[in-house]
Amino acid sequence: MSRIATIEISHHRLPLDPPFPASWDPTARTQFPATIVRVTDDAGRQGVGAGDSMYGFGDYERWFVGEDPLDLDRHAAVLSNIEFHAGRPWPLDVALWDLAGKIREQPIWAMLGGSNRIRAYASSGVHRSPAEMVDVARRAISLGYPALKVRFGRAEVDDDLAVVSAIRDAVGDRLALMVDCNQGWRMPWDIRPPWRLDRATEVAARLAAEDVYWVEEPLHRADYDGMAELRRRVPIRVAGGEMTREPYEFRELLQRDCLDVFQPDCVCTHGITGLAHLAREIAAAGKVFTPHTWGNGIGLLANAHLTAGTVGAPFIEVPFDPPEWTTARRDFVLTSTIEVDGDGWLTLSDRPGLGCDLAEDVLVATRQSAATFS
Ligand SMILES: [Mg+2]
Repeated sequence: MSRIATIEISHHRLPLDPPFPASWDPTARTQFPATIVRVTDDAGRQGVGAGDSMYGFGDYERWFVGEDPLDLDRHAAVLSNIEFHAGRPWPLDVALWDLAGKIREQPIWAMLGGSNRIRAYASSGVHRSPAEMVDVARRAISLGYPALKVRFGRAEVDDDLAVVSAIRDAVGDRLALMVDCNQGWRMPWDIRPPWRLDRATEVAARLAAEDVYWVEEPLHRADYDGMAELRRRVPIRVAGGEMTREPYEFRELLQRDCLDVFQPDCVCTHGITGLAHLAREIAAAGKVFTPHTWGNGIGLLANAHLTAGTVGAPFIEVPFDPPEWTTARRDFVLTSTIEVDGDGWLTLSDRPGLGCDLAEDVLVATRQSAATFS
């Protein structure tokens, strides 16, 4: 048995020129931050994770150093306690799975007992005009994606709905469409109240008429009654839970029949350890588990291993919206970008753990004291 020797956390920022005008930000991003977590055992093997900025985690490292790296359930239980006291420490769980894969000489998808393949959906992140969004949709089809996610949040919801209508008119049923309303939680600066049930119903009904595959976060994450009622009122799948934290909250969402599609992200919530259990519970309840993956390539890979390795999904989120959001930017911490094939499939490596390598030269060049957006 080996023992955990060190945990190292480093912060990085990739300059973005041209900037990335993320639909959820008030100004375009000029930096893409990343935090890398490395866990090393006393045999010199290293696992990597990324996601949360992990500020202050040094205070808790002593609860892991000296432990058996393969005791993943124990580590996840400690991380769950730490989460209650301080931040979202789940990148360490991902790093421990990567390390466990290297110790066992198995990819994570195989350790979980599942498949190495999952189909992708293109997840856009920029508000564009209806004509430009039609081009985005046509490009997604030509690249083999079966589905595209569109962002709402323009000045008027009618402007958002016009985008969906334009795409549907242009591409017919050749592309599944999802719509993210982003009402479940707010960025720090954004104090607008979330939609209430009447507005959500009106929008969801319009989206159902356009045969949209799911409506994402049409209501606040705690509006359990609203979500359950919306599902009764409108024949459309309701998705959510991407930033929901606690196991009891997911239990409420399941028991009250609030969602059709659950989207927790293993670098933000419960890690691979906790979400592997939750994914099976969700699938057993007849619901879809398909994580949020907006972040860098390590998070995308971790969630793809988790999902393909457990219950599978109709498709998984792949952040992709060139020219501002390319695979090169998204995956800048890795030596090679993560690409889907011409039929929209993401195939995971047979290499141990996550099956990726850090771009060490890039990490040296982008190293910063903090992982901030500006
Ligand atoms: Mg979302």
